[in-house]
Amino acid sequence: MAPRSSHQPASTRKGKSKTRSAAGRSRKRLLQPLLENAQDAIALVDDAGRFLDANLAACQLFGLSRQALLERTLPDFIDAGNGHEGLNLQTSQRQIGELRLVNSGPVPCEVEYSLTPAVLPHGHLLVLRDISRRKAAIEDELQRQRQRVELFSEVTLKIRQSLQLKEILHTTVTEVQRILRADRVLIYQVLPDGTGKTISEAVLPNYPTILDMEFPEEVFPEAYHQLYAQGRVRAITDVHNPAAGLSECLVDFVNQFDIKAKLIVPIVQNLNHNGSASHNQLWGLLIAHQCRSPRHWVDFELELMQQLADQISIALAQAQLLERLEEIVEVRTAELQDANRSLKQEINDRKQAEAALRQSEEQLRLITNALPVLIAYVDDQQQYRFNNNAYFDWLGKSPGDIYGSHLQQVWGAACYQRMQFYVDSALSGHTVTYENEITLANGNQRSVDVTYVPHLDDQNTVKGFFALTSDISDRKAIERMKDEFISVVSHELRTPLTSLHSALKILATGRLGSLSIDGQQMLEIADESTERLVRLVNNVLDLQRIESGKVIMDRQAHNAADFMIQAAEAMQAMAQQHGVTLVTQPQELMIWADADYILQALTNLLSNAIKFSAPGDTVWLTAEAGQDEAVFRVRDEGQGIPADHLERIFERFQQVDSSDSRKKGGTGLGLTICRKIIEQHEGRIWAESTLGQGSTFSFTLPTLQG
Ligand code: ADP
Repeated sequence: MAPRSSHQPASTRKGKSKTRSAAGRSRKRLLQPLLENAQDAIALVDDAGRFLDANLAACQLFGLSRQALLERTLPDFIDAGNGHEGLNLQTSQRQIGELRLVNSGPVPCEVEYSLTPAVLPHGHLLVLRDISRRKAAIEDELQRQRQRVELFSEVTLKIRQSLQLKEILHTTVTEVQRILRADRVLIYQVLPDGTGKTISEAVLPNYPTILDMEFPEEVFPEAYHQLYAQGRVRAITDVHNPAAGLSECLVDFVNQFDIKAKLIVPIVQNLNHNGSASHNQLWGLLIAHQCRSPRHWVDFELELMQQLADQISIALAQAQLLERLEEIVEVRTAELQDANRSLKQEINDRKQAEAALRQSEEQLRLITNALPVLIAYVDDQQQYRFNNNAYFDWLGKSPGDIYGSHLQQVWGAACYQRMQFYVDSALSGHTVTYENEITLANGNQRSVDVTYVPHLDDQNTVKGFFALTSDISDRKAIERMKDEFISVVSHELRTPLTSLHSALKILATGRLGSLSIDGQQMLEIADESTERLVRLVNNVLDLQRIESGKVIMDRQAHNAADFMIQAAEAMQAMAQQHGVTLVTQPQELMIWADADYILQALTNLLSNAIKFSAPGDTVWLTAEAGQDEAVFRVRDEGQGIPADHLERIFERFQQVDSSDSRKKGGTGLGLTICRKIIEQHEGRIWAESTLGQGSTFSFTLPTLQG
């Protein structure tokens, strides 16, 4: 390489000694072959970029002879539009960079440059290295990578477009087969019992399918599971190469299906149970087969398979989530349907129950309205809560008028006063029956029989009572007629009976002649019977008088003690006759009563007590002060009265034993008369008894204060 003298500045030539020139020449001679053999293009350029000298590699790079090159400048070769303006020949700084050279050879070439300024006065050292091939290789690799990325995202997109696992698997094998140009791509699922099955496949038409083929456990030993679960990928270039290490069974299999090369990538599932530590489990394998010939699987193919296997893992997790979600939705839907069904059932049941209730209410109303009696339900506040139509017929009050009204409002003060005692009894839990007089809307008076039945709840608390009122006016009228008839007959009987009685008494004295013993006995029976008849007639007439209201009780203030002493004295003889002790405890109590009638009632009760006692028994007559009233009691130790007779014996001619009248000389009217007398005094009379132990008859009379 010889610098051109015309470009050599004069000053360089002038200031050098001969020795230095000689040394320089000898170095040049040494460097010359080095420069000529250098791989890099080395040139000397001036400030304008003119080539002053160039080595062989430089001539080759620019495609010119040295002579031709020395006539050109560097800028002639630089691709101006390529952003390489950075190269500056005027600077004193060393520069390095890349350039794209044009007009040099048939194709532009990329070079790496280094410019060392002023290695000689106005001479700069330019070193260029052709990097076109390297660049092209990088470019190629980039291109390939781009393609892979595109392919991968294309397949991933297809996979992701579906939530259906089956479809995802099918897309995967189809796409992998297409991209790898493999003869067969399949997905092998490892089942929990160690066996396996081909569940998806893409295979070229000339090869047999192995879809749905099942493989025994031996094909896939447990050791392989472990390796695959850790993510091992197996690329087998030639299955017949002993290094491939195929298991016995698999050798048969690859021979049968003429498989030459295999690529196996695991599909691993990351299991994370309820937040506990996660672990990998082998779900299956993504396998590519080459049947035509052995095949060397390149990294890209391995990578693609690996990434798609990962995609399948993700899809699996999503599919499982979806499945679980669907299960939850299904369960929830079933629950909702169940709830809906039972709700509907409940509504239906309730509707049916309501309809049945309405129907039974309707029936109840029909029945109660059809009956010619008053039917009602009264609550514990004595207010009507139900009443039938008869109330309207009788009282002219509609159910609406009556509902919620108080008893007194409906019946008036006087009538209510007569009811009150029985209402209180019903509300304290007793069933009561009584008779009352009411006035109808048309002003007619009616006699009624009233029964109150208490309504008790589960705790036995009285919530109210049912009231049944029936018209007994007709019966009463007949009774009155009968009573009047009896009274007339009795009246007519009394005079002849009295004379009959007197005649018998005279006969018994023997003044009219003595009788035989039989005659005497017969006379005694006749006398006894006549006496009983007289008593009966007198009782009937008494009762009739009291009931007819013709008798007005002459009520005056009396001391109860006086009555008690008088009554006891009157009955003393009878008691003695029966061997009964009569005990009286007179009580100083001022009562408001008719002395004769009260004495009659007391003696009647005492006579019954003595009659029904055994000799040696005691009969007590006591009295005590109650609230606004005095309570008299006649107690005996006699035979007692059955419970079902305790009320009945106050009715006419009612006796516990029908032979009582004959044996005890009773008429069955005594208690009826007693009750009438006491009721006329606004008192009450009742009996209590324990069979075999005795009975107590009690009555009340108003005290003076009351
Ligand atoms: P009588 O004139 O028959 O006694 P009452 O009306 O006085 O009529 O009594 C009716 C019936 O009541 C009696 O016949 C008797 O069966 C029963 N009786 C009344 N008092 C007693 C008593 N102290 N003990 C047992 N039974 C009685």
